[in-house]
Amino acid sequence: MRCWIEVSLGRIAANYDALREAVNGEAEVMAVVKADAYRHGAVEVSRTLEGRGARWLAVSSVEEGVTLRDAGIGARILVMADFLPGEREALLAYGLTPVIHTLGDVAAWDRMAEARGIERAAYHLKIDSGMGRLGTRAGAQEIAAVVRATQRARLEGLMTHFASAANYESAQTEEQIAQFEEVRRGLADAGIVPEFVHLASSIPVAYARREAWGKMVRPGHAVYGYVSPLVRGVGPAKLLKVSPALTWKASIVAVKDLPAGARVGYGGMYRTPASMRIGVLAAGYADGIPHRLSNRGRVIAGGKYAAILGAVSMDLTTIDLTQAPQLKPGDAVTLLGEEGDARIDAQQIARTAGTISYSVLCGISARVKRVYV
Ligand SMILES: *Cc1c(COP(=O)(O)O)cnc(C)c1O
Repeated sequence: MRCWIEVSLGRIAANYDALREAVNGEAEVMAVVKADAYRHGAVEVSRTLEGRGARWLAVSSVEEGVTLRDAGIGARILVMADFLPGEREALLAYGLTPVIHTLGDVAAWDRMAEARGIERAAYHLKIDSGMGRLGTRAGAQEIAAVVRATQRARLEGLMTHFASAANYESAQTEEQIAQFEEVRRGLADAGIVPEFVHLASSIPVAYARREAWGKMVRPGHAVYGYVSPLVRGVGPAKLLKVSPALTWKASIVAVKDLPAGARVGYGGMYRTPASMRIGVLAAGYADGIPHRLSNRGRVIAGGKYAAILGAVSMDLTTIDLTQAPQLKPGDAVTLLGEEGDARIDAQQIARTAGTISYSVLCGISARVKRVYV
């Protein structure tokens, strides 16, 4: 193989267990498996989680939910970011639960359930508590009026999403919690008490922001072994121990010795300071290696760190093999993972590439083969 990822389903199961333990049975853990489970494989990951007792999974689109149903996943599936008119029928047909973002859509969901003769059609309502993306900004009274007017639509969950959960210098998360609480309390006063209240993704679980746990939490990144470091400020100690489940490898297609002063790759960005051995990897930005790693990233070759030399190109990347002269074409190097004492994770790659770890994982392209270990 040219380039592949190895996913440990055992690690995913252990991370899920750690999340359940962290919330200590206080909240239902709904693992987020959107974007093909952050590239780990939504079907295999979902099967693993179901096998571990997961009752809820979350995806972004109806299509992602249908893929899981077609693969035999029976857990409840929350579709968080797709209430497009053309997809709504499939929600009912496949037993998917939508997150609804506007009061008009609550009424539409109610009419759909009636037209299809469905007694109770559950939905979760998203409150825009200050992120300014999806969610209704209506107050409790207005929401209560619409909820009361529905016959078949059943408000099962009330949720919101944080914009700055990793920033402990900002008051935005507290403000969002307060705003959300106001709506939740207003609804409760009106006699409307949804079964699930949920606000937290990985970070509020990992850093134990208990007031944001509600009755359900929605971790994604942590399921795959990552908790982002706090971007600002000092927070409580990290409560959660998880470890990365994905290793990314590429084969060496060519090895050669270059004289001093030779240029390497597009734009001649790198020039050898002395004679050196280089390796050409069968992977490039079309596989998801960020182009920004050109001349600054590194991989692990023969158990040692090896610098990326020159530009990352579409299908090939050149590395310094001076420290691992024994490697030959066909040998594998590690783009992300561990070899001996050397370790590279998605957060390190993201820092070097000027992006975020989520984007590094989701950026591993479809042509990269996935192997389960
Ligand atoms: C992606 C997503 C999550 C999971 O976020 P992580 O940071 O990966 O834990 C939770 N809730 C919503 C609404 C999301 O879109």
